[in-house]
Amino acid sequence: VEITTPDKVVASIVATAYQALENAGKRIRQVSAMGLCIPGQVDAQTGVVNLAVNLNLYDYPLREAITAEFGIPCVLENDARAATIGAYHFVQRQEMVRDIAFINIGTGVGAGVMINGRLHRGANGMAGEIGHMVVEPGGSRCNCGARGCLETVIGGRYIIQQATAAGLASGKEASFTAYDVYRASQEGHLAAQAIVRRVGEYLGRAIQWLILTYDVEKVILGGGVTSIGEAFWQPLNQTLLHLREESSLGVLFSAEKVVLLPAGYNAGLWGVVCLAQEAVKDGWTAVGVPATSAD
Ligand SMILES: [Zn+2]
Repeated sequence: VEITTPDKVVASIVATAYQALENAGKRIRQVSAMGLCIPGQVDAQTGVVNLAVNLNLYDYPLREAITAEFGIPCVLENDARAATIGAYHFVQRQEMVRDIAFINIGTGVGAGVMINGRLHRGANGMAGEIGHMVVEPGGSRCNCGARGCLETVIGGRYIIQQATAAGLASGKEASFTAYDVYRASQEGHLAAQAIVRRVGEYLGRAIQWLILTYDVEKVILGGGVTSIGEAFWQPLNQTLLHLREESSLGVLFSAEKVVLLPAGYNAGLWGVVCLAQEAVKDGWTAVGVPATSAD
């Protein structure tokens, strides 16, 4: 996506949508609704992007712009919130659950909460956004401006940063990923092991907070870092075992509550598909959202 101006963002989204239609062999009149998720603060009801620093959008009526182009209803949601819905539907296929939390650990950390089967957005659409809870006052500088956010310990970008500072990436900086850090840890590299252990510890605590705050049945994990597999899971499981043992509330923090999404599952995509389906059911039109669908 080209991000210099709102017009270019819209043009890029429009081009991508037409490309997707072409790939699917469909015409726009065969499509009943569109779903769009973006990294930023979004008002799902009005379709306005309040703040999306990475896309350079401020108080921008993105849904209106997209609807004007395609003439069909369009839903707009924050990417972490959309992925929360997608993650919920993944678990729902196997087991009936009503309350879940989702943590996406990719480059950064996004999270969201579903309560009683509905997305819980909160007053500013930011409910559950634990990636920016400060866990280490005075710690590393986060993308959001604060220091020591959870994201600066467990986010992919910062795992790489910590490993680079420890000299693990020397000579291969350009292609160095979180996978390499986990591989080095498995090969017995002490600095890598310390980073990986810390990710497991802090993520385990984050899961504990979500369970204690919302009493969710499942905490679902997704994103590139979680798809590393056993090397990712093992230190997290250690922490969960410890949390179980240290407290009389330990029974709440069972490993069975934690679900890892399969690597190929695009939670954000399925989340906006679900939202678009709901919009059609609720009678959304290209002109606007019926007042009755407000929640
Ligand atoms: Zn932050």
